[in-house]
Amino acid sequence: MGHTDERVNLDSHTVMYGVFGHPVHHSRSPMMLNAAFQAAGLNAAYAAFHVHPERIKEAVEGIRGLQLRGVNITIPHKVEVMQYLDEIDDSARTIGAVNTIVNEQGKLTGYNTDGIGYVRALKEETGLSLENKRILLIGAGGAARGVGYGLSLEEPYEILIANRTEAKADALAEQLSRRVKVKSISFEEIAHYHKTVDLVINTTAVGMHPHSDAVPIKTDWLHEGVLVSDIIYTPRMTRLLTEAQARGAQVHSGLGMFIYQGAYAFEYWTGKTAPIQAMRAAAEAALDRSAT
Ligand code: NAP
Repeated sequence: MGHTDERVNLDSHTVMYGVFGHPVHHSRSPMMLNAAFQAAGLNAAYAAFHVHPERIKEAVEGIRGLQLRGVNITIPHKVEVMQYLDEIDDSARTIGAVNTIVNEQGKLTGYNTDGIGYVRALKEETGLSLENKRILLIGAGGAARGVGYGLSLEEPYEILIANRTEAKADALAEQLSRRVKVKSISFEEIAHYHKTVDLVINTTAVGMHPHSDAVPIKTDWLHEGVLVSDIIYTPRMTRLLTEAQARGAQVHSGLGMFIYQGAYAFEYWTGKTAPIQAMRAAAEAALDRSAT
């Protein structure tokens, strides 16, 4: 590809970025974002910072003090960090969590790119339009809030939310109802909608490595008219997706959500279109590396 020859060496002009997490050393973001900077020919570097919860305020002050241009925020800091920022974008305010900070000459703005990243991945990777679709959203945790926000910016016909803890599905439905038609349903009620659901999205942790034998819903009703999307990407093909595919359904895996949440962060920070292919190759290589 020739990118290696154009590699930018770190020097006194290098613009610095990073991710704050606890733990953070499993993060695949440094590989993906450094590959993106390299592919775009930018003199920039991205590191993983292990920030203990009691140090998050100081770490945010460090963004200003050291003039880091941008930072991603991961578990457990996504909510806590909000109080130390100067501005919160609508995405992060609605979801209640920040995953991306942009530093504009000392003014820090918090965004959440998870949900819009998910929707962009879904649309670009499957070609699906969400307009007028009936969507079954499984789960009502942090990731579901992001995905629900992203979906609410499209024009779906209706979102149905089913979650083990029904009160959380009720709360998410109530919040999303300001923007879209939405209903909280029990797992039993899913059967009423078997014939009319266009898209099923699993946002729960059910089926994730090392519990990859688990499935979040019954799959015997799935058919070729349904698209089944799982935001889990370890394994890449969850049992839900394998069973859905065996029934003729189109399937969509969670790696794209990770890639595109990073793509939006890259675009907010640099103003350039994200080099998706380079980011995807790096994310896949990082996954393969951690699988061995
Ligand atoms: P979270 O806030 O802890 O929410 C977990 C969700 O899973 C809740 O809806 C929870 O239901 C449900 N759940 C967990 N164990 C369950 C079980 N045994 N049976 C039924 N439901 C169960 O976690 P999160 O941050 O939303 O993450 C959820 C998943 O999304 C994880 O697998 C994570 O890796 C994945 N994720 C992927 C991406 C990506 O980029 N692709 C990004 C973020 C997250 P209750 O409310 O009843 O507890």
